[in-house]
Amino acid sequence: MAKFLITAVDSRTEKVVPLLYDNMDSSLTDLEGRSVVRTVDASLRAPAVIAPVTSRETPLGKTSPRILKISLGLSCNYACEYCSQRFVARNVETNPDDISVFLASLDKWVLNPPDAIEFWGGEPLVYIKTLKPLAQALREKFPAARFSAITNGSLLSPDINQWLDDLGFTVSVSHDGPGQHVRGPDPLDDPQSREVILELYRRLAPKGRFSFNAMLNRENQSRAAIQAFFVDLTGDSDVLIGEGGLVDAYDAGGIAQSLRPEEFHPFRRQAFHDIRHGKAGRISSVRDRVMSFVNSLRFERPASSLGQKCGMDRVDSIAVDLKGNVLTCQNVSAAALAPNGESHRIGHTSELGQVALKSATHWSHRKECPSCPMLQICKGACMFLQGPLWEASCDNAYSDALPIFAAGIEFLTGLVPVHIEGELREERKDIFGFSDQVPPVRAAASRKPFPVPVVTA
Ligand code: SF4
Ligand code: SF4
Repeated sequence: MAKFLITAVDSRTEKVVPLLYDNMDSSLTDLEGRSVVRTVDASLRAPAVIAPVTSRETPLGKTSPRILKISLGLSCNYACEYCSQRFVARNVETNPDDISVFLASLDKWVLNPPDAIEFWGGEPLVYIKTLKPLAQALREKFPAARFSAITNGSLLSPDINQWLDDLGFTVSVSHDGPGQHVRGPDPLDDPQSREVILELYRRLAPKGRFSFNAMLNRENQSRAAIQAFFVDLTGDSDVLIGEGGLVDAYDAGGIAQSLRPEEFHPFRRQAFHDIRHGKAGRISSVRDRVMSFVNSLRFERPASSLGQKCGMDRVDSIAVDLKGNVLTCQNVSAAALAPNGESHRIGHTSELGQVALKSATHWSHRKECPSCPMLQICKGACMFLQGPLWEASCDNAYSDALPIFAAGIEFLTGLVPVHIEGELREERKDIFGFSDQVPPVRAAASRKPFPVPVVTA
C-alpha cells in the first residue's frame, strides 16, 4: 500500500487543504479518512477484474485475439528522430507471397472474429502491395472488425484514400503539428501530399475515422499549440488528435527529446494550464486519461486491476508478423532482443499455447511503480524497457501524468494538488514548483506521523 499526503489549494478560496491519496485502492480522503469524492456505491460497481501479471519468470501466454495487430515490416520512407522502431533489428521482410499462408493459418488460432485489426509498419503504405490483398481478404473474413492504420501520410494518394475509405479503415496520420520539424520530414510542406492528407481528412473525419497523432517532447511541449495547429490546418474545431503524451525514450534520440529536470515544472504548469483552460480538449490522451483517473477515484479502482498502458500484456491482444511470429508488440521484430535479453519473438501462431511473454515486465514487478502516486494514470510506461531508457521514460511519464492527476482531482473536488509527500523521490514531490509558497502545510507534512492539521493559507 502506498499512501500519499497531498497538499492541495482550493481554487476559489485559496485555502490550503491536506488530502490523503492511496494509489492501491484509489481512495482520496481528508485526514480523518472521509472520502472527498462522491464515490459510486459499491453495489452498483462491476466487480474489479484482476489484471494478469507478466514477467520473465511468470510469462503470460496469448489466446484467440480480440485485438489483432499485424506487423507488415519495419521499413519506413522516413527516419524520425525518436521513433520507437528506429534501432529494432529487422526481420527478413515479408512480402505478398506470405499472405496466402498467413490467411490459411487463421482458422487455427483466430477462433472468434477479432473486434479490431490493426495494420502496422514501419510505414504501412510502404507495403501497399501486401497491405491491399491482405486487408481485402481479412475484410471478407471479418466484416465487422474495426480496421486501422497509422501512417506518416506521405504515401497517400487519391486511389489509396478511396480504398481506405471503402474498406472502413480508421486512419491516423502521425504528425507533431508545430513540432514536426523536430521529429522528421513534414509531408504538409509538399502541396500534393498536403492536399491528399486533407482530402482523406474530409472523407473520414465526419465518420469519426481520422485523427492526427502527435507526440510531445522537450521541443514540442504545448498541447494548446498542437491543438491550435490542427484546428487551423483543417478548419475544424472538432479535429481529433490522437496520442498526445510525452515520448518514451527508446534510444538516444528519445533520451535527447526527453525533458531535462529543469523543464519538469514549466512543462507541468503549461500542461495543467492547457488542460484546465480547455486548450487540449481535442487531444485523446488528455481526455481519456483525465476521465480514466476521475473514474478510478469514483469507483475506487484497485491497482490490482491495472494492466500495462499499451494493453500488450493482455492475453487477447496479439501482435504477429506475416510469417506467423508472435511478437511482444507491433513496434519490434522477431529478430530483435528485448533489453532483458529475451527474444521479442514470443512464440508462433502455429503453437499459440506455447507463447510466453518473457520480454515484458508488469508494473507490479518494478521497484518504483507500486509506490508511485501516478500509477493509476501511467500504468508503468513501456513494459519492455529497462535501465536508463526505462528511467528516462519513467521521468517523462511522471511529469506527463501529474497535470492529469491535478486536473482530475480539481475536477472532482475543486482542490488543486501542489505537493505530494510520501515515499517517493524528493524531486518528485513538488508538482508545479509552488511547494515553497505553501509553507504551513509543507512544514506540517514533513512532521511524521500523519495526520497533519488543516492549515489555511
Ligand atoms: S511514472 Fe514511473 S514509477 Fe510511476 S507508474 Fe509510471 S513508470 Fe512507474
Ligand atoms: S510494449 Fe507497449 S509501450 Fe512498449 S513499444 Fe510496445 S506498444 Fe509501445
